[in-house]
Amino acid sequence: MSLLVIGSVAFDAIETPFGKTDKIVGGAATYASLAASYFCDQVKIVAVVGDDFPQSEINDFHNHHIDTKGLQIKKGEKSFFWSGRYHNDMNSRDTLITELNVLGDFDPIIPDSYQDSEFLMLGNLTPQVQQTVIKRLNKRPKLIVMDTMNFWMDIALNDLLETIKLIDVLTINDAEARQLSGEYSLVKAANKILAMGPKYLIIKKGEHGALLFGEGKIFSAPALPLEDVFDPTGAGDTFAGGFIGYMAKVGTVNFTNMKNAIIYGSALASFCVEKFGTEKLKNLTEQEIASRLQQFVSLSKFEII
Ligand code: AMP
Repeated sequence: MSLLVIGSVAFDAIETPFGKTDKIVGGAATYASLAASYFCDQVKIVAVVGDDFPQSEINDFHNHHIDTKGLQIKKGEKSFFWSGRYHNDMNSRDTLITELNVLGDFDPIIPDSYQDSEFLMLGNLTPQVQQTVIKRLNKRPKLIVMDTMNFWMDIALNDLLETIKLIDVLTINDAEARQLSGEYSLVKAANKILAMGPKYLIIKKGEHGALLFGEGKIFSAPALPLEDVFDPTGAGDTFAGGFIGYMAKVGTVNFTNMKNAIIYGSALASFCVEKFGTEKLKNLTEQEIASRLQQFVSLSKFEII
């Protein structure tokens, strides 16, 4: 089934305790669409870049069968730029620079050929733009997943609250769940957030995995303990892309499929962090993904005897 992904397509500059990059390609829609492309062969993106964005990177989308008809290229303008520095624990980071550039007045135009998309991934962007995309679709998709971050909770909370009323699955990290709900307990936080509109909530806990809440149930997914984590940037977007890409592949929305989707998303996120930027995510094989999924199964399978 077809999947529409919106979000930033960007340049990032990243500092970790292991190294530093100059401007490399990143962005929420970049990570999410690449991840989804491993499970869904009809991924389409709506995003905006400046004419500083390299054609070779657009070619890489095409190599992954990602439709870029909805990628606007603004002449004479600069792409979104984000820079962050990770702390020693690699779980927390400081944003050093956010230059909105072309994202500042982004008007998400949906090509006609995207109108029949059955799945929608609202990657990290202003909640106002995320909402506009939902409203511009003639038919409501079967599943709408939305990712957001503390930045929008700080500067656009009302828009964010309006937008999450319209979606099915919200993905945020544990600190953001606490900020949005005002509750420390993640169970209480989840109950409050589900009352705000989404049917399901996924709380990402970095190296400690993820929790899925919905239908009165909770599922806890592990994260793979990795020897080396080079760059966690994009792990959340990769997770969300893998999650919805798998849902688009199976087509039926229910808690059981979402449990599997969380493991697929976690497996792809575990690859993402092993190299800087999108490097690892661009060159995975089916075999690598299958064996990583098996590692997830054996990691948490047990019998009480
Ligand atoms: P993640 O590590 O999954 O939270 O996502 C990191 C990606 O989000 C980077 O590649 C950034 O380009 C992108 N990003 C950071 N801040 C924003 C923002 N305010 N709006 C949209 N995308 C952002």
